[in-house]
Amino acid sequence: MDIFKPMDISDDSKKSEIESVEKVRCLIIGSGPAGYTAAIYAARANLKPVLYTGLQMGGQLTTTTEVENYPGYPEGVTGPVMMDDFRNQAERFGTDVRFGIATDADFSSLPHKVTIDGNKLIEADTVIISTGATAKYLGIEAEQKYAGMGVSACATCDGFFYKGKDVAVVGGGDTAAEEATYLAGLCRKVYMIVRRDVLRASKAMQNRVMNTPNIEILWQHQAVDLFGENGVEGATLVKKKGTPEEETVKIKIDGFFLAIGHSPNSGVFSKFIDTDDVGYLKTIPGTSRTNVTGVFAAGDVQDPHYRQAVTAAGSGCMAAIDAERYLAETGR
Ligand code: FAD
Ligand code: NAP
Repeated sequence: MDIFKPMDISDDSKKSEIESVEKVRCLIIGSGPAGYTAAIYAARANLKPVLYTGLQMGGQLTTTTEVENYPGYPEGVTGPVMMDDFRNQAERFGTDVRFGIATDADFSSLPHKVTIDGNKLIEADTVIISTGATAKYLGIEAEQKYAGMGVSACATCDGFFYKGKDVAVVGGGDTAAEEATYLAGLCRKVYMIVRRDVLRASKAMQNRVMNTPNIEILWQHQAVDLFGENGVEGATLVKKKGTPEEETVKIKIDGFFLAIGHSPNSGVFSKFIDTDDVGYLKTIPGTSRTNVTGVFAAGDVQDPHYRQAVTAAGSGCMAAIDAERYLAETGR
């Protein structure tokens, strides 16, 4: 089953797949920092939240080792331990944490309806969507092999580990330009691996890159492999791929940063919730409210800019408070 492909439950043949219906006051979808923080606040406000974890219980941070920039952990903490702490805190106040995937949503009438695992219908007065976003990877085998050993999709998260070293950033958009200039402040040298002979990034970001002496742009290069004994020690690139001047180039690097875009996990909801061009759920600025009353969005799924654990947690808090106020105002 494609977990992000919406099913049409208005179709009668599919309705018959629903085996149970349950009514809840606050449904939270996703178990990353945004979902669990929303759960802590919603549970303490007596909304009796039910939280579905999705496939990745604990979210993106369960795929990393050290988290050093989350306040409250002066010595740092591993991602899985931190997310266990989040979950324990959410459960302490009575959140009902369940394993399950939202496979469809119908926000056309009240109560809002979300299908879990294709066969359980949840009718909810409020829904908090906190399904995160997934970094895009090139799809080369070496990315898996060196995951957590030199491959990263987040310079703000992992750049510190490469202080004084040489690294590469793949991509030519604003994110790549931003990550490259950030890393240039920490690292000895930053290669930007750009597949075309132009940057997609805005002029302002391009200027920042061009004016940073320790960034070298490798135009018309594509990364095809990584090498190294106990971690990344270098990358194999192909220059001018598919042309008569095609050439294989090797660079020595310690860190390989992907910055070729993110995919927000919003497909199940985008039939009803407004999104931007990329698919990020739109919220009313300064709130977690979406275009559908009673449906709120928090964390990376609605954040193309920051995508940090602490910002996700902060917006999860906002969503729970917005949900609580919505219920109070509407008398539901
Ligand atoms: P996520 O953590 O992405 O969680 C999304 C949740 O939604 C998951 O539980 C998933 O199972 C669930 N879900 C998705 N679709 C469905 C569905 N259809 N139904 C039900 N559930 C669903 N940030 C930092 O601040 N510091 C760091 O050091 C740091 N390191 C990072 C290292 C790595 C390797 C990565 C990938 C990211 C890192 N980040 C770091 C970024 C941080 O992880 C994210 O900003 C944060 O996890 C976003 O939280 P979230 O709750 O919005 O979503
Ligand atoms: P993006 O604009 O889609 O750029 C992705 C970059 O990655 C492009 O240069 C693209 O190359 C390259 N790329 C994609 N797939 C690739 C592959 N398989 N191999 C090699 N290169 C590949 O994504 P983004 O940079 O993450 O930005 C997303 C949105 O957020 C944009 O609207 C951006 O303006 C915005 N943003 C703004 C800021 C800011 O204003 N400070 C910061 C970050 C992001 P091509 O150009 O050849 O397609």
